[in-house]
Amino acid sequence: MTSKVAFIGLGVMGYPMAGYISKAGHNVTVFNRTKSKAEKWIGEYKGKMADTPSEAAKDADFIFTCVGNDDDLRQVSLGDNGLFHNAKEGCVYIDNSTVSAEISRELYKAAKDKGFGFLDAPISGGQSGAEGGILTVMVGGDENDFKKAEPIIDCYSKKVTLIGPSGSGQLTKMVNQMCIGGLVQGLSEAVNFGINAGLDMDKVMETISKGAAQSWQMENRYKTMVADKFDYGFAVDWMRKDLKICIEEAKRNGSPVPVTEIVDSYYAEVQKMGGNRWDSSSLIARLKKKK
Ligand code: NAP
Repeated sequence: MTSKVAFIGLGVMGYPMAGYISKAGHNVTVFNRTKSKAEKWIGEYKGKMADTPSEAAKDADFIFTCVGNDDDLRQVSLGDNGLFHNAKEGCVYIDNSTVSAEISRELYKAAKDKGFGFLDAPISGGQSGAEGGILTVMVGGDENDFKKAEPIIDCYSKKVTLIGPSGSGQLTKMVNQMCIGGLVQGLSEAVNFGINAGLDMDKVMETISKGAAQSWQMENRYKTMVADKFDYGFAVDWMRKDLKICIEEAKRNGSPVPVTEIVDSYYAEVQKMGGNRWDSSSLIARLKKKK
């Protein structure tokens, strides 16, 4: 069945995600704050562009956002020209940004008051996952809204799961980011140690990645970590945004997160080294500098 879909935020992630929805045959209207990106998208995929999030949302069955942080999300949703002004009763609004669970619950309630559904649906898989249409999507919200939206989310994902009530998607993404932060620091220490010990790191990683030390980060990042190449995806600035959300939520629910806090402070040092846009495996640069 063809649906009318609005997609707001054509960044590194949103641009290809909206593309996959269009390629699946849905009628997509895009909005992007920087108009040139929307014009480029229109040139590449079938669809229309709107001048505001509100205009994009008009008559849509499904509305997607994929923007930066809580403030950005508030602006495109509840702001002056936000999508809430035009979202029709019975539609489902799906937010793919990584933001706090609090704002997600706030939007869920605001949507409910207006007669439409809201799902927090953060994504994992990075730029390559978005470009390949193989993202992992962790969702919070009501089951009936999830059932309606699942076929559209499927267009850009390989795994989509309703975790629980509103906010659960964002909480799951926090678990995801905490797993990555601690692991990347451990991997950085190990790779740096191996280099300093004079080992052939290709041989080392070829061998130990078949055993208990294996991880996605090891498989996909060790080569570039050895070579000091850090332009392969998720930026340090984004990671710090996410770890701040994790640390604040951990304070709220009483979870000690000492490793997450220390890794966050290490990423702050990487930012001071000029690494704001380096990818999150750049924790090793800090160790190499200290030698
Ligand atoms: P990005 O390339 O920086 O794109 C951000 C998008 O949001 C752009 O379209 C930007 O518009 C728009 N935007 C930001 N603030 C806005 C505002 N106040 N009003 C209107 N539009 C606004 O970011 P991204 O990498 O696509 O990431 C998007 C979200 O996905 C973030 O929450 C990020 O944490 C999450 N995420 C990213 C990755 C990754 O690997 N990149 C992986 C998983 C999750 P302009 O074009 O005008 O700037």
